[in-house]
Amino acid sequence: MSTYVTANPTTGVTERDFPGLSDDELGGIAERSVTAYRAWRDTPPAERAEALARTAELYEKRADELAATITTEMGKPAKQAAGEVQLAADIYRWYAEHGPDLLTTETLDPQGADSSIVQSVPIGPLVGVMPWNYPYYQVARFVAPNLLIGNTIILKHASICAASSALMAEILHDAGVPEDAYVNVYAGSDQIADLLANPAIRGVSLTGSEAAGAAVAKVAAENLKKSVLELGGSDPFILLDTDDMARTTKVAARARLSNGGQACNSPKRFIVLDELYDDFVAGLVENFEATTVGDPSDPSSQMGPMSSISARDTIDEQVKTAVQQGATLHTGGAPIDRDGAFFQPTVLSGITSDMDAYAEEIFGPVAMVYKVSSVDEAVALANDVDFGLSGSVWSTDPERAEQVADRLEVGMAYVNEHGTTLPGLPFGGVKRSGYGRELGRWGMGEFVNARLRRTS
Ligand code: NAP
Repeated sequence: MSTYVTANPTTGVTERDFPGLSDDELGGIAERSVTAYRAWRDTPPAERAEALARTAELYEKRADELAATITTEMGKPAKQAAGEVQLAADIYRWYAEHGPDLLTTETLDPQGADSSIVQSVPIGPLVGVMPWNYPYYQVARFVAPNLLIGNTIILKHASICAASSALMAEILHDAGVPEDAYVNVYAGSDQIADLLANPAIRGVSLTGSEAAGAAVAKVAAENLKKSVLELGGSDPFILLDTDDMARTTKVAARARLSNGGQACNSPKRFIVLDELYDDFVAGLVENFEATTVGDPSDPSSQMGPMSSISARDTIDEQVKTAVQQGATLHTGGAPIDRDGAFFQPTVLSGITSDMDAYAEEIFGPVAMVYKVSSVDEAVALANDVDFGLSGSVWSTDPERAEQVADRLEVGMAYVNEHGTTLPGLPFGGVKRSGYGRELGRWGMGEFVNARLRRTS
């Protein structure tokens, strides 16, 4: 039985233990979920949508409490935490409003029968495995479409998010989602594998690291269950030209340092044409050094701690290795000398393909800047990693930038912005960043049974 522990990363002090799920309790959960599924799928879509609309309202009503919980649990700065709560509310509301229209019934050419239609129907109980970096948003983008479709959910959140995951379950139940249609579990990895082996469970969606994704997808495949994986990224930010370098570097710094740099889709590799390179590095360093790092509950803090001491130590190790292997350190490069899991905003350059940092994701406030002499070189470098989540191209000439964006091996290509996520836009990657999509109509399609009904 695994205990979930919340330790405040600002202080390093353990605040609360949450007892894990016992194997006896685990046994009944899949059965409870499938019983709830049979009732929930027969609930009219409009009623399911109403529960999501009420969820959105409750998120807004309890916004301060929700935001403060993740600030304590994983160190998100107060303003960004409030923004995330609103984004989660927006996702629930979007599916309440648009979801029923996406549950289409398509009429086909009957081809010899009286009728041939394809219905969008649910497939059954699903398991969600979610990470700590956007505790509410990650859950909302999986839960909202699937509850709307009529699937039921067993949710295993990151073990450092025990308090926020309990709050999410409470809100969904208060909003009218039946207790067993959404079950929050404090489960360990072995227990998730046992659940996936249970015939009642029909699929799994995991957002997290490649290692976790591979482990869960393997068990899902062995049990012939569908999986959706949203994994890591090392997104390129390609700068072709600019008429305002001060603004460009400010936007780049903000994108990299948001959430302490702990976003799958933040720009991690800045690829800059050589005539702009020196000014870009100078501007980025200036912005990184001007960033206020401190207690995330203080509204003036722009960046808080990493999510845990061990996450901070991993970043420290990666940066040290990069420098030992020959990278140039322009600023930062070490933990901040105070309690908690703080790490300095860091700029590296001179990374070559033989260094570990070239290929790996650094999940913290670390920018890697590359100098290139042509657009072709920029594109080749952007695509020369195993990840393929998102990427952006920046230019005063959007058409030129679009042509470059079209050459990126990513699930989301942006021009003159990076990483925008909205309820109606698809989110997901290619290559080792995973497969499948969340959000919009694409997210709605992942765990739907497109059932043919043909009548003669
Ligand atoms: P993680 O260690 O993979 O954890 C993610 C979730 O998976 C947690 O709930 C974790 O539980 C669980 N887990 C880990 N191993 C498992 C296993 N063998 N079986 C079942 N569950 C398992 O990832 P993280 O460090 O929290 O998150 C950072 C990673 O997620 C980064 O690579 C980031 O890029 C990626 N990410 C991707 C997206 C996207 O949409 N593509 C979004 C956000 C983050 P415990 O907490 O109990 O270990």
